[in-house]
Amino acid sequence: MKAPLNILLLEDVATEAELILRELTRAGMAVSAVRVETRADFMAQLACSTPDVILSDFSLPHFDGLSALALANASHPAVPFIFISGTIGEDTAIEALKQGAVDYLLKTNLQRLASAVLRAIDEARGRAARLHAESRFRDLIDYAPHAIVVFDQHGCIEIVNAQAEALFGYPRTVMLGTDGAMLASAQFSHWHTMLPDTDTDTDTDADADANAAPGSSISLEFIARCCDGRQFPAEVSLSPLHTAEGRWTSCVIRDLSERKAQEERLARMIRIRTILGSINSVILRVHDKQLLLDEACRIAHEQGQFTSAIIGLLDPATLAVRPVAWAGVDAAFLKTVDFSADGELPSGQGLVGCALRSKQGAVNNDLRNDGSGAPMRNAFLQQGYRSAFVVPLMIGQQPFGVLALLASEPDAFSDDEQHLLAELAADISFSHAVIDKEERINYLAYFDALTGLPNRVLFLDRIGQLLPYDVSASAERIALVLIDVERFRHINETYGRAAGDDVLRLLARRLRGYLPDPGYLARIGADMFAFVLKDYRSETEVVHLIEGELASLLGEPLQMGGKAIRLSVRAGIALFPNDGRDSDSLLRNAEAAMKDARAAKLRYLFYTAEMNARTAEKLSLENRLHRALAEQQFVLHYQPKVDLRSGRIVGMEALIRWQEPGVGLVSPFQFIQVLEDTGLIVEVGLWVIAEAHRQHASWQMQGLQVPRIAVNVSQLQIREKDFVARVMAIQAQHPCAQLEIEITESLFMDDASSHLARDKLALLRDAGMTVAIDDFGTGYSSLGYLARLPIDTLKIDRSFITAMTTSSENLAIVVTIISLAHALKLHVVAEGVETVAQRDQLTLMGCDQMQGFLFSPGVPADALARMLESV
Ligand code: C2E
Ligand code: CA
Ligand code: CA
Repeated sequence: MKAPLNILLLEDVATEAELILRELTRAGMAVSAVRVETRADFMAQLACSTPDVILSDFSLPHFDGLSALALANASHPAVPFIFISGTIGEDTAIEALKQGAVDYLLKTNLQRLASAVLRAIDEARGRAARLHAESRFRDLIDYAPHAIVVFDQHGCIEIVNAQAEALFGYPRTVMLGTDGAMLASAQFSHWHTMLPDTDTDTDTDADADANAAPGSSISLEFIARCCDGRQFPAEVSLSPLHTAEGRWTSCVIRDLSERKAQEERLARMIRIRTILGSINSVILRVHDKQLLLDEACRIAHEQGQFTSAIIGLLDPATLAVRPVAWAGVDAAFLKTVDFSADGELPSGQGLVGCALRSKQGAVNNDLRNDGSGAPMRNAFLQQGYRSAFVVPLMIGQQPFGVLALLASEPDAFSDDEQHLLAELAADISFSHAVIDKEERINYLAYFDALTGLPNRVLFLDRIGQLLPYDVSASAERIALVLIDVERFRHINETYGRAAGDDVLRLLARRLRGYLPDPGYLARIGADMFAFVLKDYRSETEVVHLIEGELASLLGEPLQMGGKAIRLSVRAGIALFPNDGRDSDSLLRNAEAAMKDARAAKLRYLFYTAEMNARTAEKLSLENRLHRALAEQQFVLHYQPKVDLRSGRIVGMEALIRWQEPGVGLVSPFQFIQVLEDTGLIVEVGLWVIAEAHRQHASWQMQGLQVPRIAVNVSQLQIREKDFVARVMAIQAQHPCAQLEIEITESLFMDDASSHLARDKLALLRDAGMTVAIDDFGTGYSSLGYLARLPIDTLKIDRSFITAMTTSSENLAIVVTIISLAHALKLHVVAEGVETVAQRDQLTLMGCDQMQGFLFSPGVPADALARMLESV
């Protein structure tokens, strides 16, 4: 049973009070009423209880209705107040309503009373609920991770949260304009004070846009200003709020300082990488020491945007350091500098001396706080420098000079940058040493007079320069191939030496015309040529070259004394670094391999038995994969992606499997690389895209609600000229199928092709596909960089998810990725979620979707269909 309504009745005539109450009970309402006549009683009642409704006569002997209303409003604003009067003029009725009464009734028309009371109570409850919701909303706003400010159409602030107070440093009362004194002193007028760049006129583009589309929001970047005058870059998302009470703009403000700083640092690092690239090309081109050093300084100054770059050489006798090359610095100023490696001298106390003695980079990120007492410090400060980094140039363990980089801002050299710059110094040192050596070479002594090719000695020297300095850090692939012309002695004996010479010259010409790097071709023995192959994808590529193109090229019949003779060649192959880390041992081992090949009567052999076995294995795998494609032995499994909030399947990823006859299901880890190495991935990848389209369409035909299917696309596929056209052709056959393309960040690492790739992805998105970055975090892209790519989704690599619950740093990485991705309006998918703990953590952090064994591994299509049906 419902509790009776508590009614406070202000009525001097008892019978009329009776009538009123009877009217209510007659309408089926349970009421419990207290009747009062005087002002004192009325106030006493209000003081001790809160009625559900107040019913009041309009004119009373010693008291009047409007005063009663004012009293009730003051103490119980939420309690509805209804006038019931015998005589009430229209004007007074309107006045009463204006003062806050919810209704008025005539005593002659009491049948309306019950419904009026019920409606008044109902509205009061609604109001109370709204007030409650509003206070909850304020709590929510206060706990939001970002600063939030809501202002009205005049720019006056209505709501601010604690984060906004903290971010801008104004007390809340000042921002809300409720503190008059502070208002004047802080000169705070409205929210444009915090964001001075926005127009003071509220009809800025931003506001106009926001006004135009309620429910939408726009994000803009501004410079924000704090209470203390400090400025910082901010992202401001404006959304219009239109209600019956007016128009507001809600504005979420994010401090971008850290993100900007991150982006700037990354931009610097990329710049230094570019310098490294440019220096390398100088090294290949330049054979003059002075030119090399000049170029290095110029590149560091122009491309690296360092204020100045100076190279100084060490005089081993006096330990003085003399500038020999520079850029971005006044030559007259350089004449005044005095540096030394001598720790005993004042001029040896600075960075230059430290770098030379410690044989390590020396940095000072704020010259103002230099305690070394080095005499040149003030001179450099006066020139406007604030940071300096000095790296020694070394040959082996012996420093011979320094590279000094100077910047006009403090903190210009982070640890990462110092690392890259040290690499740069190593490159300069290396080529300096090479040029030294070159100068000693008497070229003529190093060429083969018959063919004009380099001879063995020069060949060894060139390979020596080619081999990477640091073996462990290098992923470079280099193969040294030795070619032996079979039965050459027979030609010499049968047709004479002159004919033999012709044959050798011809072979040299054919080889030179064919090889990608003819500079690394040499004649190293009477009937032996050697060359180097670089950057191949797999050793099998070397084999294909020798067995295929090279064999037919060299085997093309030669005309000898009217007879066509066919030559055949054998090859011995040595691979860097496994078969030798220096040119001598590589060549020696290639020769050994060649001997073995000759003895075994094989066309080619690698130096190690293991490599021979591995290559044979790979070649067989390649053959079987060709057949797999032709005979359709590939199948797709599907792994669901689940929305972390609703727990529903909102996507899936197609994962390829190879159903090899007699073997069973083979994991992509065992064959994707080979498909890429052989280029087969292009065809297989298209099959995957076609099959996923077909499956999507077929599921739809079965009446299933199918989310998008994501397919993995290799960058080799995207680089194909006709990739987009072929995908579009597939799509045309299944116009309703919805796909997502998963690519890895590395696609965009190569600047030259990344534009093209970007355009292609944009085309596919125009055609309705979406794009996800796979394995995010394993590459090097910054999130800021991603903002400029045509992508929709970011998949956080499994390694982060696995590590997440083990350390707080890893957790912080994931949190950062999620929040920044959201700031860039990207969906975030966590890959490889295996535990409930990971899932809960991700949900808490606001991650959108998860994919992983916790929910399901990849399963065959029919199993996935059952999962879709069961929801
Ligand atoms: P990926 O794109 O990162 O795919 C996710 C891989 O992680 C899948 O392995 C999946 O089975 C596995 N995985 C999913 N959840 C979990 C989990 O909770 N724990 C663990 N430990 N693993 C999980 P799969 O199917 O073996 O595929 C391996 C890789 O092969 C893929 O990595 C992708 O790079 C490549 N791949 C698969 N299918 C294709 C394809 O059609 N085309 C291309 N180009 N590559 C493909
Ligand atoms: Ca993937
Ligand atoms: Ca992945």
